[in-house]
Amino acid sequence: MENDSRTDHKSDTTENLKAEIKRLHSLLDHEKEVNNRYKDIVHSSPSLIAFLKGEELVIDIANKAILDNWGKGDAIIGKPLMKAIPELEGQGFYELLMKVYHTGEVVQAYEMPGTHLVNGVKKLDYFDFFYQPQRNLQGKIEGVGIIATNVSAQAELHNQLKESELKLRQLIDFMPHKITIADTSGNSYYFNRSWQEYTGLSMADLVKQDRSKYVHPKEKEYVKNCVKQALTTGEDLELEMRILDKNGNYKWHLTRGIALRDKVGKIINWVSSSTEIQKLKEDERKKENFLKLVSHELKTPVTSIKGYTQLLTSILAKNKEAKVKNIPMSAYLGRIENQVERQIRLISEILDLSRIEENELEFNKQEFVLNELIEETVQDIRHSNIESTSIIISNSLNCNVLADRGRIGQVLVNIITNAIKYSPDKKEIFINIEKEKENFVSIKVKDSGIGINENELAKIFQRFYRVGAQNEGTYAGFGIGLFLSNEIIKRHGGSINVESTFGEGSEFTISLPYIN
Ligand code: ADP
Repeated sequence: MENDSRTDHKSDTTENLKAEIKRLHSLLDHEKEVNNRYKDIVHSSPSLIAFLKGEELVIDIANKAILDNWGKGDAIIGKPLMKAIPELEGQGFYELLMKVYHTGEVVQAYEMPGTHLVNGVKKLDYFDFFYQPQRNLQGKIEGVGIIATNVSAQAELHNQLKESELKLRQLIDFMPHKITIADTSGNSYYFNRSWQEYTGLSMADLVKQDRSKYVHPKEKEYVKNCVKQALTTGEDLELEMRILDKNGNYKWHLTRGIALRDKVGKIINWVSSSTEIQKLKEDERKKENFLKLVSHELKTPVTSIKGYTQLLTSILAKNKEAKVKNIPMSAYLGRIENQVERQIRLISEILDLSRIEENELEFNKQEFVLNELIEETVQDIRHSNIESTSIIISNSLNCNVLADRGRIGQVLVNIITNAIKYSPDKKEIFINIEKEKENFVSIKVKDSGIGINENELAKIFQRFYRVGAQNEGTYAGFGIGLFLSNEIIKRHGGSINVESTFGEGSEFTISLPYIN
């Protein structure tokens, strides 16, 4: 029995041993498998991977990607790095590897240039890389691991970008215009050389300085509002302002700003250019003074012609049918008076224009019945209207206004005579006086004339603006009337608006505050 049990024990131990050996085998197989898998990953990786052993940095492991990159074949495995690839000398790689080996610190670099001989040909590449210390089980550094990526294409692109940015900056710097770049809140962080030369300040000083320091006090508020408007709406900016130079003189500039946007249309920053227009402004001022002088000189004789014509008309009034050698004197004098009246109006417009620009247009405000003024104005126009267009007035509101009677009359004459002038088919003109919003009366002047294109509507209130060159010869005028009318009405707290359909007619609406 005892023998039997010994035999059993022996066979048990053998079985155990066999099982243990089998387990160890499978463990070894597993480890081999894992090792192979790692090797596969390392060797098939597109990253450049190598392990350098010992102080001599002997190439112990190098994957296909790094061998291809070095361009010396796999015979270099087992050789010290600096012997295998001597051209690396002096490019900084060796020093970094030794630093990792001696200090154990990880080194990381981006787009580091490296020249090497690939199959005998010199090649410049750029690398992103990690150098990592490799330690044994006791923690002692045995070598250095390299994981790198060849980023030459990306680095080339960056270099090209840097170069073109440099060229652009040089171009901007040497432009005679003053260029600034500002962030989305309007704070300028770049001023080109022209700015620095003009103000005598460095870029840093200009960046620190508030814009209001170099803008003329008279334009400060205006500039502030224009900038605010552009920043809130994202619309282009265009304004004229005087900018202080290094000698303490203000010079006129035309400033334009645009928002630069990203792909989805979000504003990234603002670029503005300021061009000096001092000489233009001076010339413009000279021309204006000349016009003012000429108009003044012309007005005196014309006014006296009008006086004599009126005198003759009143003398002839007693004998309306009087004829000198068959010429109907009264009718002809009437025509002369109309023409002189027109001429006086044109000359007065030019004089008013310079007055308004110099802020010299004075208003003599008094209370009067608006409807009466409209009636009178229309009577006068009817009297001198040789085209005999019919003008129909309807009053749904009777009201008083506190305004300059003469100036409001001038606006009415301008708008009603325009309605006649730009209605060559002489259709009727309707004038409606009605209540608008609270305390505002509107005078609507509607014609069925040539009409105005939609894109011209806002422009007709600009100084000297006349629609279409084809109208120039057809309809007499300077393009000042609506500008003046608009300024006059604005200064009375009102506004003028227009609605029109090209070819069908226009409706001008004058809105004014009324008293009762
Ligand atoms: P102008 O002296 O040329 O009439 P305005 O300033 O009074 O100058 O008007 C500016 C321009 O607006 C005119 O040249 C004309 O083209 C256009 N305009 C004004 N009123 C009318 C209207 N009732 N119908 C069509 N066009 C008009």
